[in-house]
Amino acid sequence: MKYEAVIGLEIHVQLNAATKLFCDCPNRPGDEPNRNTCPVCLWFPGAFPRLSREALEKAVLACLALNCTIQPVSAFDQKVYYYPDLPKGFQLSQHHKPLARNGWIDIAGENGEPRRLRIHHIHLEEDVAKLVHETEGRTPISLVDFNRAGTPLIEIVSEPDMRSPHEAMEYVKTLRGQLRYTGSAECSMEKGTMRVDANISLRQEGSSGFNTKVEVKNMNSIRNVGDAIAYEIRRQTECLEKGEPIVLHTRLWDPDKRATAPMRGKFSGPCIPDPSVASIVINEEWLNEIRGMLPEMPDRKAARFSGDYGLTPDEAAAMSLERDISDFFEAAAKSGAAPRKAANWIAVHLAPALRDRGAALAETPLSAERFAALLSLLEKEIINPQSAKEVLLQLLATDESPEKIVEKGGYGQVSDAVELDALIDRVIGEHPADVADYRKGNAKVLGFLMGIAMKASKGKANPKLLREILAKRLG
Ligand SMILES: [Zn+2]
Repeated sequence: MKYEAVIGLEIHVQLNAATKLFCDCPNRPGDEPNRNTCPVCLWFPGAFPRLSREALEKAVLACLALNCTIQPVSAFDQKVYYYPDLPKGFQLSQHHKPLARNGWIDIAGENGEPRRLRIHHIHLEEDVAKLVHETEGRTPISLVDFNRAGTPLIEIVSEPDMRSPHEAMEYVKTLRGQLRYTGSAECSMEKGTMRVDANISLRQEGSSGFNTKVEVKNMNSIRNVGDAIAYEIRRQTECLEKGEPIVLHTRLWDPDKRATAPMRGKFSGPCIPDPSVASIVINEEWLNEIRGMLPEMPDRKAARFSGDYGLTPDEAAAMSLERDISDFFEAAAKSGAAPRKAANWIAVHLAPALRDRGAALAETPLSAERFAALLSLLEKEIINPQSAKEVLLQLLATDESPEKIVEKGGYGQVSDAVELDALIDRVIGEHPADVADYRKGNAKVLGFLMGIAMKASKGKANPKLLREILAKRLG
């Protein structure tokens, strides 16, 4: 029997509002433990929660960016459960009347075909406290940090529309890009400001029913989301092939073992309407005001980039996925960089270099103007692509101009025919066996000798000219 996967994602996103959801404590969970607390977020009896207007605005902006319909009336419920990270015994969340419903995002499917993935609803909720387990010492203890208690979250619940790890990863990547555009959230899986849980089940290919699902938690990167889902699909397939039933439970992804393992279940109780926080009533006038705050979103920006700058659809999509990259690209193009060249260098060299450093563009001294100046040196053949890559890496660390870096580092390209001729002379003299090999018809030797000659020039030779001279001299 052939199976197909049915995948739905529940994503918690921490809004970057200045305060917590129901009090004026700073929304900074990373501060020294238990600094950012008050009777409301320590959940003392009798304390009076008041909804943060800023958090609501940011939540609504996020919902609009994900094409949801904002509900005219939404309300909080008490989600009952008992655990040391929630001493009051319930979490304020929206269960019966969520903030928004019926959204969607478009992704590129497995073969590049467009796929629309639906969002069931988005609701507001407060985060719970954080447990810190100290396992060293004679008696292991668990500590409770209330800095995170009451920080504003939205939970984005998808429909079970995804069919593969690829679609789930694209969904998360696209959703993260859209939310970052709005400026409502940082969405860092590494830092825990975006947490993704996956519900996975299998069914016979072509059927439309739903079978028992398994929830997987604890993935801290988009790659881990894909790996954990792929693992879970294999595990469930093996179970079904052995005739073992799938049991409803929660598993944790272990990134070291690259496997999921069952976790201990938490008691969870009912959701009952909360009497302490007033319902949220949203009128059309206020909603239009928030709508006016939405920036140009990635799909529209991609269409404009294609038209204004002649990018291919793939290039335009890559340049518009993240807001900082799209702003950088456009500023570079406006500073005189050839747009397609700039897009190519951003995608192929700059983005991977930023990933290696784990840095955002804004955290480096690189400006679009200096990037454009670098591409101009390349365009004018003052430096070759190899040197340009090295200069780019230096631009990420200093605020010197590319011209200065080229001058100081001696990156200037050698296009002097006499100088290159002498270099080739030396290379040919030092590799008689390879030269003979080439002349017997082994064409691959040309590339090998080209590499030697380029290395001998310390990477600075004009590659086109060097190849010409070498080919001519080898006959
Ligand atoms: Zn507080």
